[in-house]
Formats: sequence, C-alpha cells, structure tokens
Amino acid sequence: MEKITSLAKRRGFVFQSSEIYGGQNGAWDYGPLGIELKNRIAGAWWKEMTQLHDDIVGLDAAILMHPRTWEASGHVENFTDPLVDCKKCKSRFRADQIPEENLLAKECPECGGELTDTRKFNLMFKTHIGPAEDTASIIYLRPETAQGIYVNYKNIIQSNRMKIPFGIAQIGKAFRNEIVTKNFIFRTCEFEQMEMQYFVKGGTDEEWFNEWRKRRWAYYEKLGVKMDHLRWHQHGPDELAHYAKDAYDIEYLFPMGWRELEGVHNRTDYDLRRHTEYSGKDMQYIDQDNSNERYIPYIIETSAGLTRNVLMILCDAYDEEQVADKGNDDDWRTVLRFHPSLAPVTVAVLPLMKKDGLSELAQDIRQELKEDFATDYDQAGAIGRRYRRQDEAGTPFCVTVDYQSKEDGTVTLRFRDSMEQIRVPKEELALRLRQEIKGYKRVK
Ligand code: ATP
Repeated sequence: MEKITSLAKRRGFVFQSSEIYGGQNGAWDYGPLGIELKNRIAGAWWKEMTQLHDDIVGLDAAILMHPRTWEASGHVENFTDPLVDCKKCKSRFRADQIPEENLLAKECPECGGELTDTRKFNLMFKTHIGPAEDTASIIYLRPETAQGIYVNYKNIIQSNRMKIPFGIAQIGKAFRNEIVTKNFIFRTCEFEQMEMQYFVKGGTDEEWFNEWRKRRWAYYEKLGVKMDHLRWHQHGPDELAHYAKDAYDIEYLFPMGWRELEGVHNRTDYDLRRHTEYSGKDMQYIDQDNSNERYIPYIIETSAGLTRNVLMILCDAYDEEQVADKGNDDDWRTVLRFHPSLAPVTVAVLPLMKKDGLSELAQDIRQELKEDFATDYDQAGAIGRRYRRQDEAGTPFCVTVDYQSKEDGTVTLRFRDSMEQIRVPKEELALRLRQEIKGYKRVK
C-alpha cells in the first residue's frame, strides 16, 4: 500500500487534503491523473447501469435532504459504530475491529492501557442550515446516496412512465464521520458512491437479488479485474443492517487483506414503508397492467464505493516487472496495467528528437488523435525513460515519431503490457487504437 500511495502522489493521482496545513484526516484530493481515472470508472459504471439497461434511469439528488429523511431511514437511531478509547495512549478504536480478548479485558491493543466502556457513536455529520444554530435548523450531510433515490421514486415513475421492475442509478458524494480512517483512500469521511436501487414486487425479490449478484460479478470481470482477487461474503445475522433481509459483499483482496468493495442488499420494503409513515405520503406502486393492484415495492440495492473502486483499480493494476538483468535500477519497471478504457491517458505521442521537424509532426499527430482519445505529449529526455513514465501512469499505447515517419508516414506503436513495438501508417492509428481497446485482454 505504501508503494501505491507514494506512486499516487508522485504521479498526481491522489494528494492528501490540505497538505500544507498538515493534512485533513479522512479526506483526499484527486489530481490530474486521479480525476481522469475516477471519471472513467464512474463512466464505466454509469454505462453499465443505465445505457445497457432499458429499465434503469439516472438521478442526481441533493446532498442536503430534509432531516426527517434520516429519521425515517433509521440513520438517526441506528447508524452508529461502537467506539472505545484508550485512557492511556488516547487511541480510538471501533470496538468491532479489535480482538475480542482486548475488549473483554478492556486492554488497549496498542499500548496495553485501560480501555473505556463501549459507547455508540453516530456516523452522520450534523450541521445547521440558516442563521440560527438551534435544534430546528439541524441538517445532515447524507451518509448514503440511496435515500435521495427513494424519496424521488414516485416522481420518476410519473415523469418517465417507469413500470416495475425498474431501477434508478446515482453517483454522488456521501459523508461518514468514520472513527478510523486508514489505508489511504479505502475508508474516508468524504467519499463517493455508485448506487443503483432496483424496485421489484415482493415475492420476486429473492430472484432479483440473485440476478443482481450475478450481474455485478460479471461487471468486474468485464472491467478486466483479477477475478481471483474477488470473492463473495454473505452477511451473518449479526452483520445485517437494520433494513436488510439478505446481503452479500463483493470483497477484493487489497494489500491489507480481503475488504468490502461493493454491497448487494435486499432492503425489502423497509425504506418505502418508513417514508410512507414519516411523510404521510402514499408510496405505493399502482400496477396499471394488473387491475390497479397497489403495493409497496421491495428494493434490491447495489452499492459500490467509487473512491474505493479507484483504490481497487490502482491496486489491481499495480505491477513491478523485471525487464533486464544488468544490475541497474533500470532493470525494473513499475507499470499500471489499467484496462485501456479506464486509463487516464490512452495514448502518448513522443517525438524521438525535438529537432528536424519531428516535434511538429508529433504535435500534428496528437492533434488528430485528440478528438477521440485522451492524449499526452512528451518530448523531454531519453525515449526509454519516457516509456517508463507512461508505464507508471498506466498509458496503454505510445506512438513514437522518428526519421522514418518523415519519409514513409509510418510511426511506432508501442504496447504497454508486452512492450512490443510495431509500425503503423499514421492514417491508420485511430482505427487501430479503437480495435486494440475493444479487443483488450489482460495477460498479466
Ligand atoms: P463498513 O461496514 O465497512 O463501514 P458499510 O458496510 O457500512 O461499510 P455500505 O453502507 O454498504 O458500507 O456502503 C456501500 C459502499 O460504499 C461500500 O461497499 C464501500 O465501497 C463504500 N463505502 C462505505 N463507507 C465508505 C467510506 N467511509 N469510505 C469510502 N467508501 C465507503
């Protein structure tokens, strides 16, 4: 993880928030390469969940919601973590994340000092809206994006004539006052979620739950993720959230071990029932194709962390490879083996030399490619070093312009993974790149 964190900073993927002030715990900034990677991961998810499904539509709901929302959802009452402090070293722990023997003996796992009693700690960030800081002005930063979908479900049925079963997808920020934020961007106080809530008739919920589990697994396969680094974890009775009938996590083998990447939950009709109760509005679905039968739908949720997916993709792509055996530092290269459709830069154009018109020709080629691909241009330093820089940024293709290019109009196309180089007429580059991206198969 240290290597990934340091690469992420060095190459402008992720920086610590407010670093010049010593950093802000639980918050991170995405740099030039990081925002491109994050946007592409979000784009892949959005395409998968909306464009490829006729029965799923998108939404972008506000972060600030009526405070009653969080009473209805159960978050005011239940969205808590058990907290213990060490009286001696002042370390703070989630009671469910330290060894049970320490908890029973009230002994700090770090210094052996005495632990406080366990107390419940609500993870919602609370603030005030308007000029008066009284109880009437309390408002929360949303701890999940899902509720924005539930409160809009009737609006969407009416405006878009949706029929059950159907889904609503949303990507957006969520906030949790996490007790322990370590492991880089894995668990943060401000993060982004990619959630899709699928509304079904009670009785068909288990079937849809299994179907969405299958689809979400296939999604990661399509992204080219190492499938032996993914596994399912079913929530036991003590892990199930207050609203859930059944829940499975997709876990990824991060450098610190197996951890949750995404959750697929059967939330039953809990949320819509509670919103009916708390808002006084009728949240029933009216089935016009079935004698106007009325019912409160069940909800199957697929909930993935976008920022956690960024970390997963970085870990999954990271590789160190020996490319020579000369006893030099250069014998090894660091390479990010991103799927080309996720890579922040798709193609880098590199003139072999700055002189003799090569840089102008390379700039022209880059200009041509810009419309269709994310490009980079680099003319500084030896060509081998420039390739390494692109490998480290995860750029899948490099185009090198040399003297032969001036004569016969061909360029060198270099592949990141195999380091193989071929010559291609420059007019055919765009087509060739499109084919390579579409047909990409991960080999290492
Ligand atoms: P945990 O039990 O680990 O705190 P959770 O089970 O409460 O997490 P969910 O509420 O199911 O998590 O959230 C859905 C997804 O949102 C998670 O699978 C994860 O990818 C992401 N997520 C949740 N909390 C955080 C966080 N603090 N930082 C980054 N991503 C998060």
